Amino acid sequence: MNLTGKKVAILGCGRSGVGAAHLAMAVGAERVCVFDINPAATCADETLEFVPGATEEQARAFAADLVVISPGIESDIPWVQAFAEKGAPVIGEMELGCLFYKGRIIAITGTNGKTTTTALIEHILTSAGKTAKACGNYGYPISEVALMEPRPEFAVLEVSSFQLETAYEFCPEVALWLNFAPDHMDRYTKVEDYYNAKLRMFMNMPETALAVVREGEDLPPIRPKRVGFSSVVDSGRLFYRDGCIMEGDACVLPLRGTEMEQAHNAENTMAAMLACRAVGVADAAIAEAVRSFMPPGHRCETVAEMDGVLWLNDSKSTNLHSTEAAVRSQTRPIILIAGGKDKGLDYTAINPMLEKKAHCCIVFGQIAEQLEHTFAPVCRTIRVETVEQAVQAAATCARKGDVVLFSPGTSSFDQFRSYVHRGETFRAAVKQTLHL
Ligand code: ADP
Repeated sequence: MNLTGKKVAILGCGRSGVGAAHLAMAVGAERVCVFDINPAATCADETLEFVPGATEEQARAFAADLVVISPGIESDIPWVQAFAEKGAPVIGEMELGCLFYKGRIIAITGTNGKTTTTALIEHILTSAGKTAKACGNYGYPISEVALMEPRPEFAVLEVSSFQLETAYEFCPEVALWLNFAPDHMDRYTKVEDYYNAKLRMFMNMPETALAVVREGEDLPPIRPKRVGFSSVVDSGRLFYRDGCIMEGDACVLPLRGTEMEQAHNAENTMAAMLACRAVGVADAAIAEAVRSFMPPGHRCETVAEMDGVLWLNDSKSTNLHSTEAAVRSQTRPIILIAGGKDKGLDYTAINPMLEKKAHCCIVFGQIAEQLEHTFAPVCRTIRVETVEQAVQAAATCARKGDVVLFSPGTSSFDQFRSYVHRGETFRAAVKQTLHL
């Protein structure tokens, strides 16, 4: 893509928008203007031309040659269409960044585990002496990475379905498909739309490229070479058995005692290992890096272990699939704390697992009543209003050897600013209740 002499409209004034604006200017665009639909929006870089509260009229009048949208903005809304009315292509910030980043791209998608795996791959690569930056949905916008001097050899790119919707030439060297389950049904009308958006990950990859795909995922034939991993079945190049990542009969990476020991994190580690091997990192270096890896917080993170009870904060669990994975990963009897905003999900799918592994479910927030009806037939269920009350109830029910798993299974916006705020509230409540 040649932007010399072109007019570029950047939609959204967050970090991605600012990164995209800097990149467009650096590669020769004649005029770059950042637009935001929100009249109260502010732009972090005051040197950029910026129009808050931009109207559709202003959009048409700008007559852009290229429109770049930030993640979170939907490309089919009339406001975006007004910028593109004269035929300008509309691409996402990720697509722009990837077009100009002249390094190697490892891309990670999936319904859950993206951030953990992205952070782990960055950690393995840098521990092995390579230069790598985590970017995309996590870390830097890729447009910023494209401008870094010296350029990092690897962009480890966390990719969401939204960014893939506006990608056209995107072509990573290695692509990871961690898992797929319905989510974001507030944005997509059909599960197929979400799935098809994610499949765009592979659309331009040649046969020589590598796709790392969880075993059992229902994918159509894809062009890149495919290699698999699993914590559920003993098939695929790597699988997980008794705390060990196995390749055939050999244990290639023991995970006991590392932060990645739980089954879902073992899957993230296997995927990361296959990707890092593909770009030339030796198994010994991968193993050493995994041992020193601390996953980002709020993801099955240990808050306390007291009187034989383990307290885990999995506030990042914002959908049913991640709660299911967290429950599946536990080896102790579970007290589950779940609840939050109503996203229209049906939780009955986890009942068989709860029946086997949980002896108490404590439900809170907007969907407390729905969850109470769902879980009560298989498990003792206690309904409360707040996270603090949930922690107190859990402290009363917990027996030596239990794990109290705070894995809400939906988003936090009914009572909290974010999953981080929710997780911090849980941590504080545990510390107060246990007098820590
Ligand atoms: P994402 O970036 O895809 O949201 P995260 O690494 O932030 O993924 O984890 C989100 C949630 O999913 C957390 O609750 C975490 O415990 C859970 N999780 C992490 N890895 C996996 C996995 N491989 N499969 C299922 N759930 C996972």
